[in-house]
Amino acid sequence: SQNSQKFEFQAEVSRLMDIIINSLYSNKDVFLRELISNASDALDKIRFLSLTDKTVLGERNDAELDIHIKLDKVNNILTIRDRGVGMTKEDLIKNLGTIAKSGTSAFLEQVQQGGDLNLIGQFGVGFYSVYLVADYVEVISKHNDDKQYIWESKADGKFAVIEDTENEPLGRGTEIRIHLKKDASELYAEETKLRELVKKYSEFIDFPIYLWASKEVDVEVPADEEEQAWDDRPNDEETAEEVDDMREKKLMTIKETQWDWELLNDVKALWLRNAKDVTPEEYDKFYHSFTKDLSADKPMAWTHFNAEGDVEFKAVLFIPPTAAPDLFENYYINKATLKLYVRRVFISDTFDELLPKYLSFLKGIVDSDSLPLNVSREMLQQHASLKTIKKKLVRKALDMIRHIADEDPDEKLEAEESMKKGKYAKFWEQFSKVIKLGIIEDAMNHDRLAKLLRFHSSKSGDKLISLDQYIVRMKPGQKQIYYITGQDKKQLEKSPLLENLLKRGYEILFLTDPIDEYLTQNLTEYEGNKFQNASKDDLKIGSKYDQARTKEIKESYKELTKWWKDILAGENVESVKVSNRLANTPAVVVTSKYGWSANMERIMKSQTL
Ligand code: ADP
Ligand code: MG
Repeated sequence: SQNSQKFEFQAEVSRLMDIIINSLYSNKDVFLRELISNASDALDKIRFLSLTDKTVLGERNDAELDIHIKLDKVNNILTIRDRGVGMTKEDLIKNLGTIAKSGTSAFLEQVQQGGDLNLIGQFGVGFYSVYLVADYVEVISKHNDDKQYIWESKADGKFAVIEDTENEPLGRGTEIRIHLKKDASELYAEETKLRELVKKYSEFIDFPIYLWASKEVDVEVPADEEEQAWDDRPNDEETAEEVDDMREKKLMTIKETQWDWELLNDVKALWLRNAKDVTPEEYDKFYHSFTKDLSADKPMAWTHFNAEGDVEFKAVLFIPPTAAPDLFENYYINKATLKLYVRRVFISDTFDELLPKYLSFLKGIVDSDSLPLNVSREMLQQHASLKTIKKKLVRKALDMIRHIADEDPDEKLEAEESMKKGKYAKFWEQFSKVIKLGIIEDAMNHDRLAKLLRFHSSKSGDKLISLDQYIVRMKPGQKQIYYITGQDKKQLEKSPLLENLLKRGYEILFLTDPIDEYLTQNLTEYEGNKFQNASKDDLKIGSKYDQARTKEIKESYKELTKWWKDILAGENVESVKVSNRLANTPAVVVTSKYGWSANMERIMKSQTL
């Protein structure tokens, strides 16, 4: 038609659609989840807008925030209709074709390397998954600020947008008409299949999802009417009353097929339920549904609680199965990922006032009864309750992590007794940096975090030990926690810097993560025991007697050390000292107490190169 405007898909989007439409990928179910998730997002948006302006909802039916799914088996068209915010003409053009999301190329790369198409939603391009099952798609949309438009494409590199003058007015929202491919129609043009998919993937959607479906119902109908009419004539013996009784007896029950909207999901939010009533499987499913992560890996742990008192909120926090690959890239820019609800209304998932940076690896939701609903984001960010919410969330998060360690039988064994990897070791493998960053950033929870640290040591073999374990094993009279930083454990074990400490049986922590250099600047004491870097010149070993003796020796070698220092004066040597740290090696280079360790020098050099 003359009003139809044609557009070309942005190049990457076009490539992506090519791959999708030609994909032999067997699990095409993902498309339904993605479209329902978009519908739910659009409903969230209009509900959010309605907080400050009720009129945006419109009247009667339009005010119902729901999703309707309908099949036209004759034409193989599947329709998904939401009463969400809708899209203006410009939205349709931008969101569904001309603007590539940042995730587009990342996703393309993944798929080309054989990655799972299932993860499409996480890359922000979920809509295009509809072409797994369709060769032609129409998106009809009505936004409050614009007329009704149709977007359509056969995934052939182009799409068209035209004002809609043919379909019924939507009021508000979006209707997606999916013209199913032949092979897909065999699978998806079945109510049973759709019902099953919604149950499986969209169980936790917070809006009612209806399916136009038939059911067999029992209805009572009069037995053959003509016959009955004849029989109904009263004969001589019967009174009119008796005839009425007989008429009732001649009703019969038959099966009838009725079509109606069938509600598919239970919209009670999981976090509102009592934690005792929610099964581990439900938490797993919930985690996968709201993170859009469909991999089989289960979250490592979760905590579900109800905070009461001045500030009331409910929350569910999860530790993901693995650290996101980009967790530490752009660490200070990345947003926390908790979803914030206020009295069950979704507010934001980019609200970064809820958790400190170092805990931004957690996933979950917070639903607050204490925050105001109809205020701007800026005002919300300054709300006094937020501080309390944040504080409690941090506590609960650290408790959850602590709990993994406490529950882990492997943690209770002595180092030598177990080589296998326990649950906490797995947590540590993924998230050790998070805990260390916490020590650097969160002074309030310093002690709680220090309890969660694990290190290799000169006595721990292949296992990791906690600071509590270190302290239990300290030698009588030992007042310091000895550690050394470096690149790898094997190398450190052989370091002459440790000779005498090892000979005397002290345990030494091996700190081999570059971040440990920063960690030790913020971790100077644990339960009254000072940390001592064994590569620094202030290392003192042994009893008072030992040290008095060292002092004597120092005196008698004064001339020699002075002579030596004078010779090395031009070589960046600050001083030459007698010490009792060595056993076999005659001399060793150490760093001064307040200077960088050799390891830190190395790290700084590699950073500036
Ligand atoms: P994402 O949902 O991650 O943003 P999608 O590819 O699924 O990515 O959707 C792209 C965009 O298209 C959405 O961000 C939204 O702006 C728009 N959109 C898709 N479906 C709908 C819908 N049902 N109602 C309103 N807008 C929608
Ligand atoms: Mg989406």
